[in-house]
Amino acid sequence: MKEIPILVYHKISPRFEAGLTTINPKSFKKQMQFLKQKGYVGCSLKDYHQDPQKNKFVITFDDAYENIYQYALPTLKELGFTASIFVIVNFIGKYNTWDANLFGIKFKHANQSQIQEMINSNWEICSHSLSHKALISLTNKQIINEIKKSKIELETLFDVKINSFGFPFGYYNKKIIKTLKEYGYKNGVGFTKNLKNEIPVYGRMGVYKLVDGKRNTYFKINKQHPLNIFEKVKGKIIHSGSYLTILYQKILGNH
Ligand SMILES: [Zn+2]
Repeated sequence: MKEIPILVYHKISPRFEAGLTTINPKSFKKQMQFLKQKGYVGCSLKDYHQDPQKNKFVITFDDAYENIYQYALPTLKELGFTASIFVIVNFIGKYNTWDANLFGIKFKHANQSQIQEMINSNWEICSHSLSHKALISLTNKQIINEIKKSKIELETLFDVKINSFGFPFGYYNKKIIKTLKEYGYKNGVGFTKNLKNEIPVYGRMGVYKLVDGKRNTYFKINKQHPLNIFEKVKGKIIHSGSYLTILYQKILGNH
């Protein structure tokens, strides 16, 4: 199983937020335009599997925020790109109360008709669980519920097949991969790859505010570039910050 160049974004919004996961729409547009100029085509994971080409890279959006519908969808449409979006099923059309929400800044998740419009624009929708809890901290029964029920609900709501599961906070283990396969998923996505299991788990490169410009985005998807490894290390360091969100959830005890 080969590694695939995959970018992951969270929020595309002009609103201020303390974390690094909110990218300004203008910066996002510049990054995508730059990659297009370099000869790349952004597509969904499904599209990549159906027709893998050297100049393709995969665009993924975790958590399915409304701002992805507002800002990323029109930009990608304009460039002829598509993407895969990972939906938290219990939060469709709701505020992100599952997140740490520093300073009380809340973001809304895309609603059903907005997600439907993405599907109509050839985007792939994928499961990002029911409730965005770190699966590794749940019981077997809860893990099965998050994996199985989120797939069934998305397939019923949108009449599409769900092939991919995005691990909340990127955490998974062998047992979780096995469960994914059992319930009909073809792959998982996280931040670290594991291509040697029953089904592959693809690693992804996060794009972050302040530390990533259009050139960094290009280094991230171009494995041949000498700065690709630098981007990988940078991503790992930044991603380690998500431990804080899990800790916060545990302290609150409401998720
Ligand atoms: Zn997430």
